[in-house]
Amino acid sequence: MPADPRLSPDDGALPRELDVVIIGAGPAGISAAVVAQALKLRVALLEAGEKAGGQLLRNPTPILDAPGLDVPTGMAMADRLMDHLTRLGGQVRTGGSAARVHAASGEVEVSGELLRAKFLLLATGARPRTLGIPGESGALGRGPSPAARRFGDLYRGRTVLVVGGGDVALEEAALFARICERVFLVHRGSELRGCADFRAAVAAEPRIEVLLETTLLSIEGEAEVRGARLRGPEGAFDVKVDGVFICAGLAPNSELIRGQAELDAQGFVHTDIRQRTSAPRLYAAGDVCAGSAWSVAAALGQAAIAVKDMERRLWRDEPR
Ligand SMILES: Cc1cc2nc3c(=O)[nH]c(=O)nc-3n(C[C@H](O)[C@H](O)[C@H](O)COP(=O)(O)OP(=O)(O)OC[C@H]3O[C@@H](n4cnc5c(N)ncnc54)[C@H](O)[C@@H]3O)c2cc1C
Repeated sequence: MPADPRLSPDDGALPRELDVVIIGAGPAGISAAVVAQALKLRVALLEAGEKAGGQLLRNPTPILDAPGLDVPTGMAMADRLMDHLTRLGGQVRTGGSAARVHAASGEVEVSGELLRAKFLLLATGARPRTLGIPGESGALGRGPSPAARRFGDLYRGRTVLVVGGGDVALEEAALFARICERVFLVHRGSELRGCADFRAAVAAEPRIEVLLETTLLSIEGEAEVRGARLRGPEGAFDVKVDGVFICAGLAPNSELIRGQAELDAQGFVHTDIRQRTSAPRLYAAGDVCAGSAWSVAAALGQAAIAVKDMERRLWRDEPR
């Protein structure tokens, strides 16, 4: 399809009156832009980072569970999504974090410029949750990510500590146990939460030592991790470990709309089945949404649902 110059000005400037401004160019945001471009909506796609792709850029492993998009790495998927957008004449504006959103008026401030659109789509994704403990920023692994698959060889025959009690933590511990001499699995609750298969895998592995009702207090070591300080039911104690992997879940990037739309207790955005938020012009898609599946396929689908609903409302000329 030939590019529509009205939608994608060659000089990189954006039309000020838009149908939709999409904030965040991970899989959800890029897909929303593809669908909007195919429907000939006037769209701006904003990305805070230097490159579009979101979490895909941090994934060097194959993505096997995104139908029709089987690619060798997350980066390759980001390129494929961006190629599609470019072929439709779309573009992304990178290197500019949306600094302020006014959902009621459809305004977004980016790099000192004010954009106005009939609809906004929040596709800002999520980031690994941190514990805020000493030594954490220098630690290598912070979940959720398949750290064992990525960094496994670095820890062959060594000792690692995995924090968390959910699926990601249990899978990491089980994978590390295949190559490490010893794995500590530290969970603050009184029982592991992960699914039955992962719990069974952990229970069957003698190299995993599960420490329940235990919290990580600090990570020791300068250039390299050397140990960790923990507090269990009988008080504080130290363990010698070579790596720490924190799988404490995701925190949503929803600060921009805090106070403007309903969020859950953790800050994820509540949406209805059309991806509408409680603010009339504002939609959300992908990992930033409450109940998110932490999945590329889900992000793509939600983005399409949102943009199709916007188009329907534009045709019905609402809101004005
Ligand atoms: C290592 C790893 C492996 C994974 N493996 C798989 C897998 O095998 N299968 C699978 O389905 N999923 C996998 N995932 C999860 C998948 O990548 C995410 O579910 C998906 O990327 C979510 O897409 P998103 O667009 O909602 O958010 P994100 O990918 O998080 O993208 C959000 C984007 O918004 C941008 N942004 C944030 N704030 C602003 C702002 N204020 N202004 C402008 N831009 C902003 C961010 O810079 C980012 O680029 C994996 C993730 C990781 C990290």
